[in-house]
Amino acid sequence: MKVPFLDLKAQHRPLKEEILELWGHILDTAGFVGGEHVTAFEQEFAAACGAQHAVALASGTDALRFALLTKGLRPGDEVITVPNTFIATVEAITQAGGKPAFVDMDPHTYNLDPAGLPAAITPRTKGIVPVHLYGQPADLDPIRAFAKEHGLWVVEDAAQAQLAEYKGRRIGSGGTLAEFSFYPGKNLGACGEAGAVTTDDADAAARIRMLRDHGQSKKYYHEIEGFNGRCDALQAAALRVKLRHLPAWNERRRTRAQRYLERLSGVPGVVLPTVAPGCLPIWHLFVVQVANRDAVQKALKEKGIDTGLHYPVPLHLQKAYQYLGLGVGAYPVSEAYAGRLLSLPMYPELRDEQIDYVCASLAENVRR
Ligand SMILES: *Cc1c(COP(=O)(O)O)cnc(C)c1O
Repeated sequence: MKVPFLDLKAQHRPLKEEILELWGHILDTAGFVGGEHVTAFEQEFAAACGAQHAVALASGTDALRFALLTKGLRPGDEVITVPNTFIATVEAITQAGGKPAFVDMDPHTYNLDPAGLPAAITPRTKGIVPVHLYGQPADLDPIRAFAKEHGLWVVEDAAQAQLAEYKGRRIGSGGTLAEFSFYPGKNLGACGEAGAVTTDDADAAARIRMLRDHGQSKKYYHEIEGFNGRCDALQAAALRVKLRHLPAWNERRRTRAQRYLERLSGVPGVVLPTVAPGCLPIWHLFVVQVANRDAVQKALKEKGIDTGLHYPVPLHLQKAYQYLGLGVGAYPVSEAYAGRLLSLPMYPELRDEQIDYVCASLAENVRR
């Protein structure tokens, strides 16, 4: 049996005609930049998240960078995040003028451990970027309480958490600034690159609209120097079609995760993901821990099962961040887990028998 890590072709098959019809119209009218689909997608995505505003952008990385640029960081200002995330989180911090500082991950949820915040704050700390990793919300209440107590802002990296819920509210709602990615492999993926910011703050939304469009308030009148970070019409049209299916896709991922959890519970040597109280995850990834990870990954590959590593090297140990001077031992949980984490196939179209095959193959090869 073949079990791909992700099967986007299967997702697109039933949507192809609908998307092509919209794309045909865009080709006929040559309205590639901005236009009705971008505006409509922004309204529909904001409504889906429970936010007042959404600004559609060229990528999740642009979305996070622009959100952070609204905070006016000055040289030496520090922003706290986690070392176990995709590099885009930290790229956005440094490219918005900040210096990254890290808090280790919680060993159970894999998200920012709020207990680590007091040790990470300095007089230069300005904000916190929690990441809702693998589609499970970070523990926002203690993070927000700490931020409020110390006069810090919070910007959320929700790239992996479209429509996930924390304590009954969708991520991106409730007066925050949250960044979403629509990279093709995300739960809501474009047919190319796209991203968005959601917020209730009209000024921040207006600033981000300016940043994405060369700092223009109107054509050729530049208030500030900005970027080319616009979402194009083809992506917005495809995203509108897909957004309508997202609640059902996320629900289907939950049933897939449930089946994995049932089939793998009690298998010696496999540490399963835990759902934190008050969180409704969307299972962007289903990540287990096994001691002999590299051998297991190879054995599964030989059985036709593709898996992933998210992420094999914590950011503070990447060559790109050597200059921060944070060596081995700085964030022991992230470092230890990086060698044990294994992402199993996860997508709405994943069939029961495929999951059972993955679980049986995993149980056969894991070191007890
Ligand atoms: C995907 C991702 C991003 C960046 O999104 P792009 O759309 O690829 O630029 C940022 N942070 C995290 C955690 C991600 O997974």
